[in-house]
Formats: sequence, structure tokens, C-alpha cells
Amino acid sequence: MDSVNSFSERPAYDFIIIGQGLAGTVLTHTLLERGKRVLVIDEGNVSSCSKVAAGLFNPIVFKRLTKSWMIDELSPVAENFYGGLEQKLGSRLFSPRELVKLFTGDNEKQFWIKKAKEEGLKNYLSGTIEKNNFPEAIKNSAGAGKVKNAGQVDVKKMLDLSRDFFKEQGILLEERCSYTDIIVKSDSIVYKNNHAKKIIFCEGYQTTENPWFNWLPFKLTKGEIITIKLETAGFNINSLSGSLSSGWLSENSVLIKGIFIAPVGDNTYKVGATHNWEELNETPSEKGRQELIRNLDQVLNVPYKIIAQEAGIRPAVQDRRPLIGFHAEHHNLLVFNGMGTKGVMLAPYFAAHFAGVLQGKEILSKEVDILRYWPKSVVGTGN
Ligand SMILES: Cc1cc2nc3c(=O)[nH]c(=O)nc-3n(C[C@H](O)[C@H](O)[C@H](O)COP(=O)(O)OP(=O)(O)OC[C@H]3O[C@@H](n4cnc5c(N)ncnc54)[C@H](O)[C@@H]3O)c2cc1C
Repeated sequence: MDSVNSFSERPAYDFIIIGQGLAGTVLTHTLLERGKRVLVIDEGNVSSCSKVAAGLFNPIVFKRLTKSWMIDELSPVAENFYGGLEQKLGSRLFSPRELVKLFTGDNEKQFWIKKAKEEGLKNYLSGTIEKNNFPEAIKNSAGAGKVKNAGQVDVKKMLDLSRDFFKEQGILLEERCSYTDIIVKSDSIVYKNNHAKKIIFCEGYQTTENPWFNWLPFKLTKGEIITIKLETAGFNINSLSGSLSSGWLSENSVLIKGIFIAPVGDNTYKVGATHNWEELNETPSEKGRQELIRNLDQVLNVPYKIIAQEAGIRPAVQDRRPLIGFHAEHHNLLVFNGMGTKGVMLAPYFAAHFAGVLQGKEILSKEVDILRYWPKSVVGTGN
């Protein structure tokens, strides 16, 4: 590992990044692309949020049928980022998807038809109402609408391949960073024997333990997800096979009705996700499993078996905006966090924005700047 001792004048790294979840991984690639020297520290098992994520990229808020926050800006940056990363890591990570929103009744259908005519939504909501094209397998009589320009990122694969890449580059320390090992100097930081200009915490929900950033107003949410495999034995799957490759359960479609049913290949689907603000742990629960089964059984008519159940804690925030920026008193302590339920869409855009800020080319957006929450009694500008 490249590091310098205390006699060196120039820190070996521009940035030490704590955490190789979705946020830390995207930010590290972004900074490396800009020629920055980065050291990543992640033990691998401290939290599992990114590893269990379904990776959906959904441009619509279904409750009100409005565009997701900043989607027109986020979308092209995300597409560009994941496309570039696929080239760099030599593997497919992003797949375009159609989101098939199953209507619960006529009111929902009429509301969809009205919204699909709005100028700003035409890129995302198809105005054509779909009839159930797979009645043997899907319970739906009210029809469905399709969301265009959606997608799915294989987050786990992206993290695993990135980890290998960082290892090959010799820029990954596989350990848990203890805060007591960090020495904060006026213009640099030292972690064990590693000197850097700045340290960026990308620790997901673990930031609640961070002595410099534990004041950030997270609204953590436990999420559970199951993986199911359609049971073909004892069921006339042959009559379904055509529909499985082209219908609503095909590998391009994600069904939405309260839950999502998202394909991962080989008749296997991720089904999720729950939202629990009380039981903040990463242990799969019977309650979460039953909730998902209940919702799934209202949609699916095909026998299935559950082959996995996972849980994670989303680093969601009170005002649903990312938490990015500089500690008000120690300007070499930074944070890149708060991706909440939408890390896949948010991380590439805000990593690029933050990198621009760190290069002195952009001014940090007030909407995501952590200083919007800094206690009023303490004055600081951060950058
Ligand atoms: C069930 C579920 C489904 C989801 N589905 C989607 C989806 O479809 N689409 C979407 O966009 N988002 C989804 N999300 C949300 C998404 O997972 C999050 O936005 C994102 O993963 C947050 O990433 P993060 O890197 O900030 O945090 P984390 O994933 O928690 O990563 C933090 C990393 O930091 C490491 N770490 C923490 N502290 C230390 C330390 N002291 N030393 C070393 N390492 C440390 C941890 O080990 C971890 O690797 C889902 C979440 C859940 C739970």
C-alpha cells in the first residue's frame, strides 16, 4: 500500500473514502476518473444496504404520478456513468426496464390517462393502457400503464467488480475504520500511516455513530426483500414459456403494485420492499417476509419458492435530499451520504457535482449541503 511517513511533505492521497457501498463506490470511480489519488477503506461486512438493493431506476413517484426529484438532470448523468463503468469493468451492469404499474381500479386508470397527457411526463408515462397480457400468471383486471426510461442496475455485481478493481489498483484497505485512528490536522488528515488532504465518509446509516457527523438528521428505514423462483414442477410452464419471455414477467419488465417484482434472470425475481422505521436492524424478519408474501399473492398466480430473504437499512433523510458537504469546523472532514431509497439514480449525478466542488469548479447545491442542518449557534460556511 502506497503511503507516506510523517517526514513527507505531500500527502499520498487526495482523499480517503470510508465505505465502499453504492455511494463510496460511485464517488471513488468519479474521483479516479478526474485524476485524484484515492484510498478506500471498507471491511466488507459493516452494512448490507447496497448489497441487497434491487437497483431499480424509477423516474416516477407513483403516489402522485409526478416526476421523481431532478429526474431530467439525474437520468443522463446516470446513464453515462453506468455505461462508462461497464466499459471500465468489462461487464454489463445496467439494463433498461419497463415498469408495469398494475392499476387497482378505474380511478387509478383514469388518473394515469390524464397525467400521461402532461407535457413534462410524456417521456416517462405511456398513454396506452395495457390489458393483462399474462392472465395465466398475473392477477389483474383493471389494466396497467407502463413507465418508460426506467432501468435496473446490478448493484451487487457493481460493488464486487469495483472491489476487485480497487484491490488491483492497490487502493483498498479491507478493515473497519476506527474513528480514534483518525488524526485531524489543519490542512490534512492521517489514518494510521496514510496521509490525505481530506477524508470523505460514505458510511450509509453507520454515520449515526460518527462523532463528527452524528448530528445529521437521518430518518433511517429498514427494508426487506425476498428472492423468488417460479416453480415449474407441477405447473404447466410450457403454456407460459412464450409469455415468460415476452409478457409482463419477462426479463425486461418490472411489475409494480405496492411491491415491485423485478427480474434477475432464470425465472427468478426480487420482490420488495418493506419500509420499517422502528426495527432498525439488518436481520430478515418473519413479519417482513409475511408482508411481502401477502402483497405478492395479490399479484402472482404462479407457484413460487422463496430462495432468499435479505434486509438493509436505508440512509434516508428527513427532507429526502442527499447529505453532502464539509464539516463546518474541520473542512477536511467530508460526507457523501443520504441517498435514501434512490441511491442508483442520485449517486452518479451528485458524485460528479461533489467532485466539481472539490476541484473548485462548482458551488455546492444548497439543497444537498449538510450545512442546511448545522446547528444555528455554530457559524461555518464549509467551503
Ligand atoms: C431492501 C432495499 C431495496 C432497495 N432498493 C433500491 C432500488 O431498487 N433502487 C435504489 O436506487 N435504491 C434502493 N435501495 C436504497 C439503496 O440501497 C441505498 O440508497 C444505497 O445502497 C445507500 O448506499 P450507501 O453507500 O450510502 O450506504 P451502504 O450501502 O450502507 O454502504 C456503506 C458502506 O460503508 C461501510 N462502512 C460503514 N462504516 C464503516 C467504517 N467505519 N469502516 C469501514 N467501512 C465502513 C459499510 O460496510 C458499507 O459497505 C434499497 C435499499 C434496501 C434496503
